[in-house]
Amino acid sequence: MPGTVIVQPAAYVRALADSLTPPVRLFEKTPAVSFERKGTGWLVRTPKGSVGSPRIILANNGYAERFGFFRGRLLHVYTYASMTEPFAPFRLGGQRSWAATPASPMGTTLRRVEGRDGDRLLVRSRYTYNPALQVGEGTLRRAGAVHDRKFAHRFPSLAGTRMQYRWGGAMALTWNSVPAFGEVEPGILAAVACNGLGASNATAAGLAAAETLAGVESELTRIYRACPSPQALPPQPLTLIGARATLAFREWKAGVE
Ligand SMILES: Cc1cc2nc3c(=O)[nH]c(=O)nc-3n(C[C@H](O)[C@H](O)[C@H](O)COP(=O)(O)OP(=O)(O)OC[C@H]3O[C@@H](n4cnc5c(N)ncnc54)[C@H](O)[C@@H]3O)c2cc1C
Repeated sequence: MPGTVIVQPAAYVRALADSLTPPVRLFEKTPAVSFERKGTGWLVRTPKGSVGSPRIILANNGYAERFGFFRGRLLHVYTYASMTEPFAPFRLGGQRSWAATPASPMGTTLRRVEGRDGDRLLVRSRYTYNPALQVGEGTLRRAGAVHDRKFAHRFPSLAGTRMQYRWGGAMALTWNSVPAFGEVEPGILAAVACNGLGASNATAAGLAAAETLAGVESELTRIYRACPSPQALPPQPLTLIGARATLAFREWKAGVE
């Protein structure tokens, strides 16, 4: 679309982290395992320490449920990607750097990346519902087989090119497609449930959460405050059956796309 850009998410996240300056400190590989009230604020415990804060922004998407928030309101859906090994650029005509997102979100996202040792193609496709927020090797393997099939169908000139990386990631969806946003406890603000469109949605929710805590009134804070709450999901196994059937039907409808 005119005026839009394709973002390489790993580069974006790394550059964002590198741009932080003191007094901001970033702790990686440091999960918050619990938090408890301390005076008028909160004490967040991590495996090797703790951080005290008057306020917290909960931006951990579906994992907010692990702290007891939005139970029975988040649909944990995974999507998957595979990336090829580098190939000689002449084997595929056209520009060397591009991306295509599908018209149907259940279709396939493609990305060609230009590199020094050759180009790579990324294929993103397949959705699964995993309420326990975990996926096994078998699921990843089956998603990979779908990618291989789609890759072979689209790029016959690259026959023989193997996938070097495969991965999947969790996304939190809500039944009524709204974010889970707002104060869930005094001093704890949630900005979760990306609904699969995190690059835009979750970023905007994070901005709105930061502005809310800073006491700034903006268009974003007004939009997010006005969002209805996530609707309660039907009890299990109804949600399981419904979610799997819906995903299967929509994937079938997306067809070859
Ligand atoms: C393969 C794939 C392709 C995708 N393609 C697109 C795309 O093309 N466009 C798009 O818009 N979206 C895409 N998405 C969706 C997008 O990645 C998500 O919507 C987005 O990442 C959500 O952002 P977020 O910051 O809200 O949550 P997340 O990115 O899920 O981040 C949550 C963070 O919380 C951390 N966390 C969880 N629990 C704890 C804890 N206890 N303590 C500390 N940290 C914790 C996690 O480690 C994680 O870093 C894709 C997703 C996948 C998996």
